[in-house]
Amino acid sequence: MTDILVAGGGPAGLTAALYAARAGKSVVVLEGNAPGGQINFSPLVENYPGLPSIPGSRFSEDLLRQAEELGVELEYESVTGFRTHGNGFQVTTDCALRECRALVLATGVQHRTLGLPGEEELVGQGVSYCAVCDGPFYAGKATAVVGGGDTALQDALFLSGICSQVTLIHRREEFRGARRLVEQALARDNIVCEMDSTVEELLTREGGLSGVTVRNRITGQAKQLEVDGLFIAVGQQPQNGPFSALLAADEDGYLLAGEDCKTSLPGVFAAGDCRSKGVRQLTTAVGDGAVAGLAACRWVDEHPN
Ligand code: NAP
Repeated sequence: MTDILVAGGGPAGLTAALYAARAGKSVVVLEGNAPGGQINFSPLVENYPGLPSIPGSRFSEDLLRQAEELGVELEYESVTGFRTHGNGFQVTTDCALRECRALVLATGVQHRTLGLPGEEELVGQGVSYCAVCDGPFYAGKATAVVGGGDTALQDALFLSGICSQVTLIHRREEFRGARRLVEQALARDNIVCEMDSTVEELLTREGGLSGVTVRNRITGQAKQLEVDGLFIAVGQQPQNGPFSALLAADEDGYLLAGEDCKTSLPGVFAAGDCRSKGVRQLTTAVGDGAVAGLAACRWVDEHPN
């Protein structure tokens, strides 16, 4: 029996674990993939107070080390469900059955797809959802980024340092992302923008991506762009499927929990991007982690076996 199990090893989950370990609780973080979550894919984090500029992967490495030094255990297991059990919870993972007194869900989000024919098959053959991971494969080549948020802008900036040209394709006339990133992108000679435009078709040659058909929704005109790589950065969606039967969620699947991170089920807390909230940032994720970690500790203290 662990005091607190944390599902998800991103910034929210690791922060919750760190706070709980510092409070003397036994804590295990269950993470099916590489710890760090989405921030691993951020080339440079420039809006975390006190850390003016840090690669996302470096941030997550440092956070993991800090948590482990405080006694947090990390297990590479995906949580597949849970149920109430006595005074606590029984948690199933892809390879184990675990028990805990309080549960923190910090399962984050995963990338959204465009849903185009051939998109899935072309992943690794020209289509990517991670510029930091796959950008170097397109050194000196022409690429395109789809999206208008912070991720798309950051991806375009990152790729412009590697690729010959980056076309930023956004479906509206204004970017959603931070003004500073927009200004940086517009100032780059090798970033061109296709605004009010959507990708309509993925073009292929010899099994790989050779280009895209882009349609301007104002003029109605379509044109073909020759690109070797297409980086899709059109937002994210939660991964709360395994918990949907037991916990209240909003219409998009985000867990309903207030600023106190309490879900509809006492003893279960939601932290970070998987929670229904207005602002999804690294800072708000770690803020949630602190709140959820301390709330879980309080729950354990107030509900002894
Ligand atoms: P996002 O802010 O939700 O932006 C998604 C973008 O994709 C929007 O511009 C959206 O267009 C567009 N889009 C959505 N569905 C589309 C579709 N089917 N076809 C074409 N375009 C589509 O997602 P994000 O950029 O991944 O950012 C997610 C959160 O993480 C945000 O809160 C962001 O601020 C945060 N973030 C922060 C940092 C940082 O701290 N430095 C870095 C990255 C991300 P519309 O604008 O028309 O809706």
